Amino acid sequence: MNPFRYERVQNIDEALRAAGQGGRFIAGGTNLLDLMKENVERPARLVDINRLGLDQVEPLPDGGLRIGALVRNADLASHPWILERYPLLGCALMAGASPQLRNMATTGGNLMQRTRCYYFYDTATRCNKRTPGSGCGAVGGCTRIHAILGASEHCIAVHPSDMCVAMAALGATVNVAGPEGRRSIPFQEFHRLPGDTPQYDNTLREGELITSVDLPAQGFASRYSYLKIRDRLSYAFALVSVAAALRLEDDGSIAEACVALGGVAHKPWRLPEAERMLTGETPSVRSFTRFADALLEGATGQGDNEFKIELACRATVRALTQAANGTPQSQVDKRIA
Ligand code: SF4
Repeated sequence: MNPFRYERVQNIDEALRAAGQGGRFIAGGTNLLDLMKENVERPARLVDINRLGLDQVEPLPDGGLRIGALVRNADLASHPWILERYPLLGCALMAGASPQLRNMATTGGNLMQRTRCYYFYDTATRCNKRTPGSGCGAVGGCTRIHAILGASEHCIAVHPSDMCVAMAALGATVNVAGPEGRRSIPFQEFHRLPGDTPQYDNTLREGELITSVDLPAQGFASRYSYLKIRDRLSYAFALVSVAAALRLEDDGSIAEACVALGGVAHKPWRLPEAERMLTGETPSVRSFTRFADALLEGATGQGDNEFKIELACRATVRALTQAANGTPQSQVDKRIA
């Protein structure tokens, strides 16, 4: 690990000033410290933001909820308002990492976590995300965990988060503060596809700090499921995950469907135009399969990961069926219902 300077800041202004002087924010450190130990990231200055007071969950006037950027994943997953109103988010959080990591990891840090592509972590290999212009070791290599949607010739990595998949489905908003003031970013615009600049994971501008994430009032608390398919039942990243949320009319037809996929692209994958196909439909394997086909249109395997296309299709149908039946996937008994 390279030497670095460490400082602790007490408020957002101090944090932004330190970032303007080349500082790198650290909170739980559950990803950044790993990357530093592997020499993938070598910040010269770490700015500890743990004392900024951004650790509250607060109601919003429009009925939504504001989650401070420093709320720990474990605290958020067990928060009464999340359990009662946004259980989809609670399930996604519980599907991720381990209890120890969830105790440290923060909401903002979860948004900022970087891909788990093997080649990104191995500094002996080529990687355009780690070293722009060096090439991509994954293309033509081991691709079991890589993207089937939205990839480019420059990068086929996927975003590793579970929490972000649920936030994408719920239509969250990311609030940030920066040198040019504060702004809000719709969740689907926060993470980005790799294109020819895979070194950028998201649309944050230089020196910006995530302060909170807002959830809209609609939490889909009665019809939801987070289904995560992985190589082992715990402490593994998703091969494919599905956050599914439905609102049904009194006659049982679908009023609203929100679905995001994890483990398939450089960002949580959501297609609102495909979701609108489900409006007015009767929940059924047939209608859900048609939706899954539209959601996965253009999916392309990279060799080892061809299986993910069919897996994602089936997982989408299964998660929507669980949501429609009001029988969400258990995160305790992980056997798929
Ligand atoms: Fe790097 Fe992306 Fe290629 Fe992985 S897939 S080696 S992260 S450029």
